[in-house]
Amino acid sequence: MMENIEQRLILRINEHATPLRIMHVCGTHERTISKYAIRDIIPEEVQLLSGPGCPVCVTPVEDIDFAISLARSGKVITSFGDMMRVPGTTGSLFDARADGYDIRMVYSIDDAIKIAKDKPTLEVVFFGIGFETTAPSNAAALLRGVPENFSILTSHKLMPPAMELLTKDTNVDGFLAPGHVSTIIGTHPYDPISEKGFPIVVTGFEVLDVLLGITMVQDQIESGRSCVENAYPRCVNVEGNLKAREMLYQVFKENDSNWRGIGMIENSGLALKKEFEQFDAVNVHADIYDKIPHEKRPSDIHNDENGLYEGCICAEILTARAEPSQCPLFGRRCSPENPVGPCMVSLEGTCYNWYKYTRNKGI
Ligand code: SF4
Repeated sequence: MMENIEQRLILRINEHATPLRIMHVCGTHERTISKYAIRDIIPEEVQLLSGPGCPVCVTPVEDIDFAISLARSGKVITSFGDMMRVPGTTGSLFDARADGYDIRMVYSIDDAIKIAKDKPTLEVVFFGIGFETTAPSNAAALLRGVPENFSILTSHKLMPPAMELLTKDTNVDGFLAPGHVSTIIGTHPYDPISEKGFPIVVTGFEVLDVLLGITMVQDQIESGRSCVENAYPRCVNVEGNLKAREMLYQVFKENDSNWRGIGMIENSGLALKKEFEQFDAVNVHADIYDKIPHEKRPSDIHNDENGLYEGCICAEILTARAEPSQCPLFGRRCSPENPVGPCMVSLEGTCYNWYKYTRNKGI
């Protein structure tokens, strides 16, 4: 009987199977892997690890607390939907909205700008989160011009510095690099990581893409190579999207950034440049920002004053030191309906996907 391409790739992965730890750093990869049970159809020794690829999961508590403090002081907070459900120190943005504060869900920065234009007497803050994929649209909006009563709480993250850190902190053998992010940054930024001995394959989001990415990492390991390869050429090229990056760096500069559950990573975030500081919520509302306690250590995630995170092991989940089923709260006290930690909130969260597609594992 004729085998299809997926079956041939699975056979090939089996034939070449050696103990291997391949990390992806993209919530959409986790979704494909969990939804189609890819871990169950490849040999056990080929482990697929889930890294910090979910934007709302890595947004630090201090930024959520700042957004809530802004709302409590009368500002209008605008945010993507899944960010609104992530717990901060005293609850989520949704909880604050239930308390009567003006917090609105938007689908893009343009929705937030429209609110500011329509209501010039209000101070509107857009909670800007996400990786290299979402930051360019925020940069484009600022370059087009925004009203004076509008500002951005910038919480963007850059993926290559986090991958670099993970090569030091975890015993990962290679990476499936994120297809979405790579459409913007291209394949070059991964070169320094592969040059240190870590095979990297830029991978798309279909089952076939993921299986192909795995075989390409296996090939590199087997032949003693480590380079950056592109298994997603229909969307990603070497240079990436030059126009998007040009806009990005017209508006933003790289800065050290705090990743929830991981801690500070050098040059892994984006801050607004001086020319745009009048739209920087941290600058505009410095009096409120300065009162926010800043999360400094990964262990802080367990030490919330009101016990919100007691028992949550998101810090270990985000760095692939543990799997969701090892969390004592998984599927019990913590579920998508009642998330205790950030990894259970978003469609891109590892705990969310394990709960939705593999929830019987370990509980
Ligand atoms: S299951 Fe919930 S409490 Fe446990 S690590 Fe995941 S998000 Fe945190």
